[in-house]
Amino acid sequence: MIDAEVIVVGAGPTGLMLAAELGLADVQVLVLERLPSPSETPKAGGLSGQILDLLRYRGLLERFEAASTGPRPAPRFPWGGMHVDFTQLADPPMQAMPLPQPLLERLLAELAGERGAEIRRGQEVVGLSQDDATVTAEVRGSDGLHQVTAHYLVGCDGASSRVRDLAGFPFPGTTYPEVQRLALVTVPDSVTVLENRDIEVEGVGRVAFGFTRTEHGEFALGSTNPALMGLYTSEEESAHYDDDEPMTVAELRDSIRRVLGVDLPLGEPTRLTRFTLHARQVERYRDGRILLAGDAAHLFPAPGVALNAGLIDSVNLAWKLGAAVHGWAPAGLLDTYDDERRLAGERTLLHTRAQVAIRRGHDQAAEALRELFQELLVDEQPLSRLGALMAGTDIRYPLAGHDHNALIGTFAPDLTLRIDRGTTSVAELMHAARPVLLNLSGRVDLSETARDWDQRVDIHTAETDDRPADAVLIRPDAHIAWAANVDESADTAVPAQRDALFGWFGTP
Ligand SMILES: Cc1cc2nc3c(=O)[nH]c(=O)nc-3n(C[C@H](O)[C@H](O)[C@H](O)COP(=O)(O)OP(=O)(O)OC[C@H]3O[C@@H](n4cnc5c(N)ncnc54)[C@H](O)[C@@H]3O)c2cc1C
Repeated sequence: MIDAEVIVVGAGPTGLMLAAELGLADVQVLVLERLPSPSETPKAGGLSGQILDLLRYRGLLERFEAASTGPRPAPRFPWGGMHVDFTQLADPPMQAMPLPQPLLERLLAELAGERGAEIRRGQEVVGLSQDDATVTAEVRGSDGLHQVTAHYLVGCDGASSRVRDLAGFPFPGTTYPEVQRLALVTVPDSVTVLENRDIEVEGVGRVAFGFTRTEHGEFALGSTNPALMGLYTSEEESAHYDDDEPMTVAELRDSIRRVLGVDLPLGEPTRLTRFTLHARQVERYRDGRILLAGDAAHLFPAPGVALNAGLIDSVNLAWKLGAAVHGWAPAGLLDTYDDERRLAGERTLLHTRAQVAIRRGHDQAAEALRELFQELLVDEQPLSRLGALMAGTDIRYPLAGHDHNALIGTFAPDLTLRIDRGTTSVAELMHAARPVLLNLSGRVDLSETARDWDQRVDIHTAETDDRPADAVLIRPDAHIAWAANVDESADTAVPAQRDALFGWFGTP
């Protein structure tokens, strides 16, 4: 007897996104969250990277924008202790939307609920076991211990994941000794913000906008809102802090004094957080019926990328779990989650670890490295490349047929399409998170082959300008599973299309 088809442990952003996407895949979901009520801890200040495209592809972008606390800021991001400015690019790959994490979680919880997920709060998973058909969690609630059983369980329970420990997933990597403190405070009367965004402080003098390095650590001043000062410090400390333990203004003031050597007057805080940085990734994302996603699977030693990675883990996994639960998953489908998202995690570790090396050095060689990067990052090509890496849009999953067509494994471009009922777009066709076969050449052979899958795959004959392929098969997570080259012969296109349909969407 099962309680749900899938149990999601943790109602953070990753778990709630997974529950919402599982709802689209018609999966009965139970979310177990140890906290009795939603967390108000001010962690991420917003969303950035490819997840913004993905939300648009789900038709959710406007709803998220309506909840956003401000207009989209200019695409300028801290990177390795520098500011990288993408504003000069015509189409910056890295964008951000201000949406404080408690608001984001509220929105995702609403969405998951609308799609049928049950969220039980005050329920802590303390034990796990699995067999060939089910996985059982031991749960501690207000009325003691009980068990819940499902076909699959996904640990979305954050950096200190209990699921990861209980299931014995190794989590190798590094914890860095610096403590980072981040705050937004109002500008007190004794501080004047100058035109170039430096500040003039009575009794202290001028403090420069941007990053200042001292032998005691790093300090940064910056904010997109002229009424607020954004403050950041990073210093090596032996103390261990829990990310959920609130930081105080006094603690921030002491840290600024240690790093910068001055007493900065601070106004009222609107945000105060402290965190340590880790570079860790599990060696595998799946063990039988137990899977991991989000911070439970990976931790990155630089800001602004973790939510994107975790939310896209969920989008990648949900439809595959749906296929497994509904009994049509081809052999190996669930393992592609590990192949693809471990690769994505490795790419994110690559640039976030590089940032540690670039940011931490205090000698002349390190200064030279930073200066060199600053020079390189004004040119369009390296800037675009870095932006795509940060946004997670440069990732090409290593799918079968990868060498045959450059689109295979990439995020589907948002083509404008003319179909029999009018004009649409790839983004619009992905709202329901169903697989889509786009026949872009009107070829009868390709539509005929796909017809056997029409219960599972939406088939559209469409025209588009500058057609990139004769046909493309798009998975529910908006990645291209297969593509036929323009004017490719039926001898190769038809068998490859059939293999792709079997390989991803099973026996019709
Ligand atoms: C100060 C700070 C600033 C940050 N800023 C950014 C940023 O600007 N951009 C960005 O992308 N990321 C940022 N992050 C990181 C981001 O907050 C995390 O990546 C994100 O919260 C991960 O989401 P998650 O759902 O995977 O895990 P979590 O948010 O940690 O959620 C895990 C959930 O699981 C629950 N749980 C844990 N154990 C159990 C159990 N045994 N049983 C049941 N439930 C359990 C927890 O209570 C929690 O609700 C920041 C983090 C911090 C601390």
